[in-house]
Amino acid sequence: MDETILVVNCGSSSIKLALFDSNHEKQASALAERLNNPDSIAKISGDSVPVALPANASHDHALQALVNAFYDRNLMSREPASIGHRVVHGGEAFREAALIDKKTITAIEDCASLAPLHNPVNLIGINAMQRLFPDVPQVAVFDTAFHQSLPKRAFLYALPEHYYREWGIRRYGFHGTSHQFMAHEASRRLGKTPATTSIISAHLGNGCSMTAIDNGISKDTSMGLTPLEGLVMGTRSGDVDPGLFDYLAGRGISASEAHRVLNQDSGLLGLSGQTNDMRSLCELADHGHEPSQLAIDVFCFRLAKYFGAMMVSLSHLDALVFTGGIGENSARVRAQTIEHLKLLGITLDPDLNNHHGQYSEGHIGDADSRFPVLVIPTNEELVIAREASRLAKLN
Ligand code: AMP
Repeated sequence: MDETILVVNCGSSSIKLALFDSNHEKQASALAERLNNPDSIAKISGDSVPVALPANASHDHALQALVNAFYDRNLMSREPASIGHRVVHGGEAFREAALIDKKTITAIEDCASLAPLHNPVNLIGINAMQRLFPDVPQVAVFDTAFHQSLPKRAFLYALPEHYYREWGIRRYGFHGTSHQFMAHEASRRLGKTPATTSIISAHLGNGCSMTAIDNGISKDTSMGLTPLEGLVMGTRSGDVDPGLFDYLAGRGISASEAHRVLNQDSGLLGLSGQTNDMRSLCELADHGHEPSQLAIDVFCFRLAKYFGAMMVSLSHLDALVFTGGIGENSARVRAQTIEHLKLLGITLDPDLNNHHGQYSEGHIGDADSRFPVLVIPTNEELVIAREASRLAKLN
């Protein structure tokens, strides 16, 4: 069998694994969920037989069980040639993916205070895979790395300067792997090279962010110190007035409780009072549920506002790009958002939009639109697999 590349994405209570062949074609994927809970489950895509896990399975248990299942079900016949790990925060230490060694691990540990929910669990995945495959080169691919090119004027907050110098308080940005993929894929579809392509990329999933990519380089992005800033998201508020914290303190809500509410009880869920899921929200709005329609309105308005804001970072614009579960699948959200941009001469072709650009290489813009608009399915796993394979070969 050909050489394979294993991609590992460890979340706080879940693990996604993907197996790629040497041509970077995906061969298999697997998911473990509700880890460290009594009802932990794991399965391999397209296989109805679940992968057995003990109750309260840890990340270690689940990784071992999924790798065993890959072997037992003949999806993998020998050790992978390389392993790529998604790591959320690389701080200022990483401008690109890195081969994992002691130094890399220490640097990821050092960034843990900036991403306390993510980096420690990413490290658990790295340690577990190093135990399972001690001789296989492993690579860390960071959500923040693509945005390390942001100029100071875009990444500095207007705070006392020593906050940045002493504590690293600045805008880092996230979803970099997805935005980087958009830059490459958009340039391919536009018949250009990444180094001459400028886009505004909107990644709209449960988390949402937007990036201005000028001639292939990230120049501004909507997420900041943490993935809370910017666009309205499933359960996250995005931008709010920082004065809110003091105001809430006066009503007995502590800073940590406010932080929890802004992360978990806000966004589409908070506004609608019903759901963080855009598809369900659209159905509710269609049945006359006004708060759901309002949630969609706020979401699209903020998105359009950011499209406008991102333009100031670009030397020229080749396309606006939509991706992520909402960006790829919701013609309604795209239409309502682009409607706000009429003054900029950006318009959609309703038919192409309703088909999500499936028959037009992703193009959904009207023939008269001043700038093309594209829908491009994201593929972060593929970027991680490519990086793992590239760096392992350099090793
Ligand atoms: P992701 O995190 O990229 O998987 O995206 C999840 C979001 O995509 C959820 O809000 C889903 O409701 C949304 N989504 C997926 N399919 C559709 C659809 N057909 N219409 C609207 N939203 C969708």
